This record gives sequence, C-alpha cells and structure tokens, in this order.
Amino acid sequence: MTLVGGSTENVKAVVLVQLEGRTEQEEKKIESIFADFLAEFFAAEKKHPKWPKDAVRAVSILSEEAGEAVQAVNSYEDEGGALEAVRHEIRQTGAMAIRSLLHM
Ligand SMILES: [Mg+2]
Repeated sequence: MTLVGGSTENVKAVVLVQLEGRTEQEEKKIESIFADFLAEFFAAEKKHPKWPKDAVRAVSILSEEAGEAVQAVNSYEDEGGALEAVRHEIRQTGAMAIRSLLHM
C-alpha cells in the first residue's frame, strides 16, 4: 500500500480500509484531525500567501512549528500550560507539512 503519488480515489479507498475496525468515535476524531489540518492549511495560505521556493527554508518553517509544539507541550507538562496550545501547534505543524509537500 502506498499513498505517495496516489490519486484522490485511491486515497479515499485506502482511508476506508484503514478505518475498518475502529470505533465510530475514533473515526470521527480522525476525520476531525484531518479537517483541522486542512482548515489550518487554508488559513495559513490566506495569512501568508507566499511560500518559499527553497526546500530548506520550507522545511525550516515546518520544523519551527514542530518546535513550537515541543515548547507548548513542555509548558503543559511543567508549567500548567494549556493542552489546547499543544493541539494548536500540532495543527499548525500538520498544515506546514501539507504546504511543504504541496510545493515540492
Ligand atoms: Mg505556531
């Protein structure tokens, strides 16, 4: 099984197979995660329409968001920071992963 370079229909088929055996609650959570990644992706494109052509710069933006997720989870664990801040940074990381792949 591969998703790399797959068509939309292939991706849908793979997703359906992979969701088999999961609870409805898990399915809804997975669906929600991907919806959140896409919402963050579209919001980021609107807020920052330019995306670097240089792959190293693009991946550095992705890494920056992942680093912010680490900061947020450390704050959550050590300083009583908000778990929602962790989720927010993870969503931004997912959005930057989409942008990085889109432009490569
Ligand atoms: Mg961030």
